[in-house]
Amino acid sequence: MNKYLVVLPLLFTLAVCQHLHANEVHKPLRVEPLTDGVYVHTSYKHFERSGWIDSNGLVVVHQDQAFIVDTPWSETDTELLLKWIAGQGWQLQGSISTHFHDDRTAGIALLNSKSIPTYTSKMTDEILLEKGKTRALNSFSGESFEMLGGRVQAFYPGEGHAKDNLVIWLPEQQVLFGGCLIRSFEWGSLGFTGDASIGRWASSVQKVKDKFNPITLVVPGHGKPGDATMLDHTMGVVEQNTNK
Ligand SMILES: [Zn+2]
Repeated sequence: MNKYLVVLPLLFTLAVCQHLHANEVHKPLRVEPLTDGVYVHTSYKHFERSGWIDSNGLVVVHQDQAFIVDTPWSETDTELLLKWIAGQGWQLQGSISTHFHDDRTAGIALLNSKSIPTYTSKMTDEILLEKGKTRALNSFSGESFEMLGGRVQAFYPGEGHAKDNLVIWLPEQQVLFGGCLIRSFEWGSLGFTGDASIGRWASSVQKVKDKFNPITLVVPGHGKPGDATMLDHTMGVVEQNTNK
């Protein structure tokens, strides 16, 4: 026992030193509690023009069973998230990626290699296949799908940020994970629109508003979580950009 007491702090010090060194080129993953049984994981990627961009996903927990909504933006951060989940004493039941872009899917290959059930919609699966990217182990058809005993519900509202963007509803907490369909309050622009359907975006957000009510908290793909008015904010941003 004594041996471990000495070794563990040493290992910890080593890990911290490596981390500090890595910070020069890598902004580390953050995990913060949102509400009962829900954590937001945030990973970062550096772009020459825009600097560091944050990307959010969730960890949903029920009775020590955890589920990841969107992987972090790199394998390294996905590995860190797995370690964090294991450190809490939770068992990871699976992950779902809400569309095909890297900020949602970068960790799929790592999760697959550890035989953790990964999910996407059939539409996302077809896009990943077409692009030669790593596909999830499982996919579902239709507009909705339930995981973690119905505590994590995927819904396809239609096109917006991407052709295949899903939102995730947590019925127990009345939390909406809007992913990249929803723009956070600090963003007045639509972000990357290379794969977007701007003309259909607002009606997809309206479909989410009609389906989930009341919504207590909204977590966007990028930026800070907030209340349900983030959906109206997103529709406003879409409208501004449509009229340009
Ligand atoms: Zn995207």
